[in-house]
Amino acid sequence: MIATLIATLAEEDDAEDLGVLAPDDRLTCHVHGGWIHRCVSSPVHVNPVTRHRWCRGCDAELGVVVDELTGEVAMRCSRCGRGGSAATARLVAACRASIEAQRAA
Ligand SMILES: [Zn+2]
Ligand SMILES: [Zn+2]
Repeated sequence: MIATLIATLAEEDDAEDLGVLAPDDRLTCHVHGGWIHRCVSSPVHVNPVTRHRWCRGCDAELGVVVDELTGEVAMRCSRCGRGGSAATARLVAACRASIEAQRAA
């Protein structure tokens, strides 16, 4: 399982360097060295410019709920209850996929 994570990390690093993989579509995190759903709640994954995990209306970061058992991932603003964006939707999709990948490993 650890070997699969390391291999996936290395593959995604290479693909990203080659320009064939967008950072948003990665299932692993280069900064934290793990599956993206495991570290997505870190402040490093908040970006007001790209609006990853960011509610522009409230100027607030979105809270994260990750359920590895059901594979459910939710990101919501604690103030307005919404705060979605295209970037965050992509991040949620990556997290769901990384839970799947971890399971398959
Ligand atoms: Zn991370
Ligand atoms: Zn909000």
